[in-house]
Amino acid sequence: MNELEFDNLLEKARQFRRQGVRGRYAPSPTGSLHLGNLRTALFSWLQARLADGQLVMRMEDLDQPRVVAGSAEEILSDLRWLGLTWDEGPDVGGPLGPYDQSARTAIYDHVLSRFRDQGLVFRCYCSRRDVREAASAPHGPGGLIYPGTCRALSPAEEEERQARRPDRSPSYRFLVTHEAISIDDVISGNYSENLAEDVGDFVVRRADELFAYQLAVVVDDALMGITDVVRGADLLSSTPRQVALFNALDVEPPRFWHVPMMVDDSGERLSKRDGSDSLRVLRDERGWDAPRVIGHLAASLGWVDPGSHLSAAELLQELNYDDLKSPACPETSRA
Ligand code: GLU
Repeated sequence: MNELEFDNLLEKARQFRRQGVRGRYAPSPTGSLHLGNLRTALFSWLQARLADGQLVMRMEDLDQPRVVAGSAEEILSDLRWLGLTWDEGPDVGGPLGPYDQSARTAIYDHVLSRFRDQGLVFRCYCSRRDVREAASAPHGPGGLIYPGTCRALSPAEEEERQARRPDRSPSYRFLVTHEAISIDDVISGNYSENLAEDVGDFVVRRADELFAYQLAVVVDDALMGITDVVRGADLLSSTPRQVALFNALDVEPPRFWHVPMMVDDSGERLSKRDGSDSLRVLRDERGWDAPRVIGHLAASLGWVDPGSHLSAAELLQELNYDDLKSPACPETSRA
């Protein structure tokens, strides 16, 4: 990919963006979807449909070591079973693909070299342990706060650090600045971070040479012309980093809708690993049909009465766009 090709992709995305709402659902194929994932998927679908917009399905399969074979296909078939549809995606194609992240590394490579040329990233030779030992403030919202160790190394220092770990590549970190980055989340309201104080320079390409989620997600949302990002509230604290990357690409950030996390009876967040709330278990072992799942999810957001049975299409008829902005989430939403 060269600069001209990349600029053409950006321009094409801008044109699509101007035509109306473009939402997306971006699952990672690392296991069966649980009710929390399904609730976010339903929310993304409703947001796009109630806005008369388009929904993009993107498979976030970059982190190959975590990918589970067959999971991508299972996720798409589960979402269809629920009654959700999308306009662009890995299985249906579309004008701004490819829609599997693993097929987009040439694009991420280009963005990294562009950031390198602009002096926005630097090579970092620190292991996680080095960062842990050097960090003065242990944790910010994004984990360990990087203390800037490799920010300004001379070529000789870089060589010396590489020689100490000859079999490992450096990671690349994005240089952050001392300014507050605020977002006005449609559901969660204002959220602000000072990246220099709260996060530090963050990884955009890992030492194992895989592109980091933060970089890939922003490049994809920018190049797929996404206007609205609906996702779980666990990613709220990633958003200021992503806004910094949108700014670096000179692309207006989308609107963000961070949907509260679903919790179990003991207040713990649902996880794919636990499996008890996976759609597979509810459907195949407990006999739930799609209207029961939709009713359960919609009730957990305060949109219908508990115990309701209705299809996704019927739920769409019942709701107004404004209902999406203030979901009421009771404490417990377990099946
Ligand atoms: N792929 C991420 C996940 O499944 C979601 C990323 C996003 O929506 O920004 O948790």
